[in-house]
Amino acid sequence: MRQKLEFLSRQVSNIYEELDSIHDALGVSCNGCRQCCNTAAYNIEATLLEFLPLALHLVESGQFDSWFAKAQMAMPNDNCVLFVDESIKIEGGCSFHRYRPLVCRLFSASYVRRKNNVETLSCRFLKAELSKRIDRLIDAQTFFERLYDIDPYLAVRRRDINTAFREALEYVGMKLLLNTPPSLPFAS
Ligand code: SF4
Ligand code: SF4
Repeated sequence: MRQKLEFLSRQVSNIYEELDSIHDALGVSCNGCRQCCNTAAYNIEATLLEFLPLALHLVESGQFDSWFAKAQMAMPNDNCVLFVDESIKIEGGCSFHRYRPLVCRLFSASYVRRKNNVETLSCRFLKAELSKRIDRLIDAQTFFERLYDIDPYLAVRRRDINTAFREALEYVGMKLLLNTPPSLPFAS
């Protein structure tokens, strides 16, 4: 089972590395204000699969239990549980910036199609700059579809980011730590 999870995680991480390269090449300067993360979790939707690399990292680094406890307390109307206070100087204001989910990587690097319009997926500070480079942005939908192609079951349901994180930890916990038979992670 661990090999299967690692295989899935590697495929997700490959997409993340690809996005990092695209983002770096854009050369857009984010001011680091953290406003995009400083919002209720229900404003940021993610899937369980997007958090699989982080969930495995937490197991491997011995941080699983403490983060599982935090995830269980985090509600949809709270901030993202990974968001850290401005006083803590940490990259992007994210506890695990390197492992952040797809939705956070697409922000300010992609566009979405709405009816006949193409709009940048970005904050108000970067919208104008990104709109000038829209031909170099990526179609967010194609990356959601690529995630779905990796594992439709784990990528089909979009949840507020706190719930998605908690479900990823529950899923990995069930599979690796409790040695229980597979169970639907989002049956409720
Ligand atoms: S992406 Fe925008 S809102 Fe988020 S930290 Fe950068 S400038 Fe601020
Ligand atoms: S996972 Fe990290 S980058 Fe994404 S919303 Fe939470 S704190 Fe921000």
